[in-house]
Amino acid sequence: MEYRKLGKTGLELSLLGLGGFHLLEIELDTVKEIVKRYLEAGGNYFETARSYGDGVSERKLSKVLPKEGIVVASKTESREKQSSEKDLLSSLKALGRDHIDILFLHAVTKNDYWEAISSSNGALKTVEWAKKEGLIRYVGITSHGYGGTLLKALKEYPFDLFMTQMNYYDRFNFPEIETKVIPYAVSNNIGIVAMKSLADGYLWRSVGNAFRYTKTIPVSCIVSGINSLDQLEEDLELIEKEPFSPEELEQLFFEAPELGNYVCRQCMKCLPCPQGINIPGLFLAEGRYDRQMLDGKVRSAADYALRDRLAHWFGSEDQGIEEYNSMSPGVDACTDCGICNERCPYVIDIPRKLGIVKSKITEGYVW
Ligand code: SF4
Repeated sequence: MEYRKLGKTGLELSLLGLGGFHLLEIELDTVKEIVKRYLEAGGNYFETARSYGDGVSERKLSKVLPKEGIVVASKTESREKQSSEKDLLSSLKALGRDHIDILFLHAVTKNDYWEAISSSNGALKTVEWAKKEGLIRYVGITSHGYGGTLLKALKEYPFDLFMTQMNYYDRFNFPEIETKVIPYAVSNNIGIVAMKSLADGYLWRSVGNAFRYTKTIPVSCIVSGINSLDQLEEDLELIEKEPFSPEELEQLFFEAPELGNYVCRQCMKCLPCPQGINIPGLFLAEGRYDRQMLDGKVRSAADYALRDRLAHWFGSEDQGIEEYNSMSPGVDACTDCGICNERCPYVIDIPRKLGIVKSKITEGYVW
């Protein structure tokens, strides 16, 4: 198992981290087997949250984790001082520990949440108190989807680490994670923990590529939600794979079936539009709105159900609507001239997709 430094904390995390959410789904005996095998393989990072089954994930881990030699992280989704303090004390009790290594402020996806957290009665007060009392060693922040609030929070408070989605599908929906948040974290020595390498399961047919892609990013740890020994063995094998070279990445972006001829790669080659439409900007707004999941094509029921479930999983719709409404000229200026289609290397039917974006964002449906 490879170990990587976690920012300036002094901790070294195993590259494969064990996520605690999926421990809810399985019996305690299976949790024991998974944890035993993960430790044998050199794993040392366990991550859970108060909100995972209202402490059930923490309680299961308390029965199986060793007292020493590991890194334990939990999370509070409370924004206020009093409720986050209560969460932390409940987490410590459920985990059976007098302190944890990392407390994450969880799912800080909107500016409103960050304002509440950083207010005079916000959860940051709990963080400061808990550090002084020795209840936590380090503080992190997690976020899903749009990265604007995450970047703002990292700039306004000296977090030790952050965790967010990093996968080859959502990089085209939330590119600011890789173009802004990660460079900021690297230059300020903030620890980087990746989650959702499989885009919440959407990349389930391409797990090898998904792991290799996330390894290409300068992360300290890749957290995987593991609910069986077979899955752990597969992850242990995949975590050893080489990251992609730049040429291989280009090829992946061309060939990945999940991107196909619908997801915009933000290459800008369709510009300039004769009508002045910011085509990639509108498709980015669509990415924020529903992760470009619903494309109006009928496939299997299982595929549709997965896309429909994941489309609004991150809750960045408001950002998509705001960006869509800020575009002028908008979709209605399209004359269907087709020049953009000739330029798009990914064979996206751009006028059709523009129509879909408009219907989704203004009507709520693919029209
Ligand atoms: S050329 Fe195609 S992939 Fe590139 S920005 Fe335009 S629509 Fe997106």
